[in-house]
Amino acid sequence: MDRSVSPFDLTGRRAVVTGANTGLGQAIAVALGAAGADVVGVGRSAMDETADLVRATGAAFSAVAADLSSVEPIARVVAEAGEGGRIDILVNNAGIIRRADAIDFTEKDWDDVMNVNLKSSFFLTQQVAKGMLADGKGGKVINIASLLSFQGGIRIPSYTASKSGLAGLTRLLACEWAGRGINVNAIAPGYFVTNNTQALREDEARNAAILSRIPAGKWGDPSDLGGAAVFLASKAADYVHGIVLPVDGGWLAR
Ligand code: NAD
Repeated sequence: MDRSVSPFDLTGRRAVVTGANTGLGQAIAVALGAAGADVVGVGRSAMDETADLVRATGAAFSAVAADLSSVEPIARVVAEAGEGGRIDILVNNAGIIRRADAIDFTEKDWDDVMNVNLKSSFFLTQQVAKGMLADGKGGKVINIASLLSFQGGIRIPSYTASKSGLAGLTRLLACEWAGRGINVNAIAPGYFVTNNTQALREDEARNAAILSRIPAGKWGDPSDLGGAAVFLASKAADYVHGIVLPVDGGWLAR
């Protein structure tokens, strides 16, 4: 079959995925690779497992080491990830969470989460978009939002603020850049089995409460998310701007 006729084909595109060493970022990197993209993983930790998984799809993979808790490495990250060429797809996936009652929440837990989840995502997008706008060919930006982009949650004030903010930024950037060929959209994963949710899954009462509300009746597997990223990264989404696409086992439909 000639894959190039598929609206989901990503052959020849360069995709940058932050936080690709594990969890949802790894699954997104593998899915983009399987759709034909060359993948660059950006993160603080070794990416060997992701490299093997992406290369097993036949795609190229390279890694850029960077700590996105500050904006300091962003110019270098974009230069290294672009390798002199253009970046076609950016997935802002790196994210952290801190849990404490709002009444006890510290300034450090506020700043740490906002810096990675919101500030670095914005400035990385800004830097990548400069390249996408310069040659007029546009591109795709996919922000990994959350159900906390729609809901309040409990005990995660900075996380909810960051993910609600990311949904707002997704819409703002879509409004500014839709006419210039850049699609900015977000994916809101529901409850997935990753490090991010380990504490919840280990809390028997919270685990049972969460499961009982998911129409699909199970936690998401990271591999359940890849298709949504391929869609938003592809030609199939050329007229899709500023959406936050839930992939949540039906949680928000409840
Ligand atoms: P995870 O903890 O397994 O992965 C987080 C990734 O972000 C890791 O690769 C980590 O190295 C990277 N990261 C964190 N801080 C970084 C920093 N300072 N610099 C560079 N990289 C950094 O969790 P995950 O569930 O795979 O999370 C991925 C994204 O999905 C996050 O944005 C998270 O908020 C979001 N999300 C997850 C769920 C879920 O159920 N797991 C639900 C909604 C949203």
